[in-house]
Amino acid sequence: VAYKEAEFNMSQQFETVIGLEVHLQLNTKTKIFCSCANEFGSLPNTNVCPVCLGLPGALPVLNHQALLSGIKVGLALNSQINSFIKFDRKNYYYPDSPKGYQISQYDFPVAHKGFLLIKTGTQEKRIGITRAHLEEDAGKLNHENALNCSLVDFNRTGTPLIEIVTEPDLSSPQEAYDYLNTLKLTLEYLCVSDCDMEKGSLRCDANVSIRPVGTKTLGTKTELKNMNSFRSVKVALEYEIARHTQVISSGGKIVQETLLWNDEKGVTVTMRSKEQAHDYRYFPDPDLVPFTIDYKLVDSIKAELPELPQAKFIRFVQVYGLSDYDAQVLVANQAISDFFEAAVKEYAQAKKVANWMTGAILKEVNERKIDIRELKITPQALAQLIKSVEEGVISNLVGKDVLTEMLNTGKLADAIINEKGLAQVSDDAALLVIIDEIIAQNPGVVEQIKSGKPSAAGFLVGQAMKKSGGKANPKKLNELITRRISNA
Ligand code: ADP
Ligand code: MG
Ligand code: ZN
Repeated sequence: VAYKEAEFNMSQQFETVIGLEVHLQLNTKTKIFCSCANEFGSLPNTNVCPVCLGLPGALPVLNHQALLSGIKVGLALNSQINSFIKFDRKNYYYPDSPKGYQISQYDFPVAHKGFLLIKTGTQEKRIGITRAHLEEDAGKLNHENALNCSLVDFNRTGTPLIEIVTEPDLSSPQEAYDYLNTLKLTLEYLCVSDCDMEKGSLRCDANVSIRPVGTKTLGTKTELKNMNSFRSVKVALEYEIARHTQVISSGGKIVQETLLWNDEKGVTVTMRSKEQAHDYRYFPDPDLVPFTIDYKLVDSIKAELPELPQAKFIRFVQVYGLSDYDAQVLVANQAISDFFEAAVKEYAQAKKVANWMTGAILKEVNERKIDIRELKITPQALAQLIKSVEEGVISNLVGKDVLTEMLNTGKLADAIINEKGLAQVSDDAALLVIIDEIIAQNPGVVEQIKSGKPSAAGFLVGQAMKKSGGKANPKKLNELITRRISNA
């Protein structure tokens, strides 16, 4: 006791320990143990059957696709896939869970002992993945204030979930935030979920404790729920760490409990303390036989895993010579990185393509809030546009306008350039007609140039450009003007 008191001296420095539990809804066509549609947004209680309603005598059957997705997630998180798999009942009563238990996995989850590498600041850190297990989601209670009651919607009951649990390896709210972003991106690449936190298809509970710097024993943790964005996970953790520090520094003790984050007020509120904690009385579900997994199945899934974002990032930097920034922006979305590579196949100047992608194209995607594949421009069409600019057929500025037109109409760059007569005029004779007019109109400027102030030529280039309706090739103009004046 004396040692403990000394440990929690006021001047003590504390360090933070965080572990995260992420629930991911899998996008299988049907639910995990029945053939009801796994669909978001249907009318209440339309995607239900005796199995997911928990009617007596109804028997669950494991959805094969959910298992495959679970294995995929496990492999992407560098985990071991258990060869023996079992489902267990987690017993608790709540109105949105009609069976009185949730089918989950207790001691033989689909995957365990994995890790995810995250970049935090400039450092790379390995975050241990304790386990990833399959389970079913609960239904939803809709609180109807006007009716002074709650209505139950069982559509979500039995939706397949995979829960991904980390080791207590995260040391700050920022690291938790970085982990969540890396995890989400990795999961998105697997196409097993839409990973949309707003729709609730990705949810995160955060466990946090503090301990004196340099000590090894974990402090008492609290568990935070109800955060609806990664940013609020970070803010909730910051709040909770400050609270732990204050309680402990003033000689108090942290009570192990589950807290709800109130985003509006920016505070955590007790949901249930450990005394009220459930004893879930896990036991094997007798309706679902344990089974073994053939390593050949695991190998074939492994062989079909897509290139994951971290590997793609490295390849983009090394193979295409992109900056870290460009590579990161492009890799942040699988479809965008595919679009980029398809465009580079057509026009090999990768850095130029990256510039157009991270600039004008992504601006469009973000403004319209659409998937890049919905744009009216193909990677090949973009490549041709960039080529026209780089070969001097049109100026960079005109290129931007052509792109806008392409995005609005779906026409090809060449067609727009021809139709609107946008091709740059590089033809000497045509340009000289304009130049001679400009020279005649600006004798003062010509004098300045002749008396040794060549920078004044810029003004003449600008005037000639205007006269040409923006179509003159500016480099050519500059050359011709300089030559004309020095020969005069
Ligand atoms: P519970 O039984 O309360 O769910 P678990 O041991 O399953 O607790 O851990 C749940 C999560 O909490 C894991 O991510 C784990 O890393 C994390 N965790 C466990 N103990 C602590 C602690 N003392 N401080 C911070 N996180 C912790
Ligand atoms: Mg838990
Ligand atoms: Zn059903």
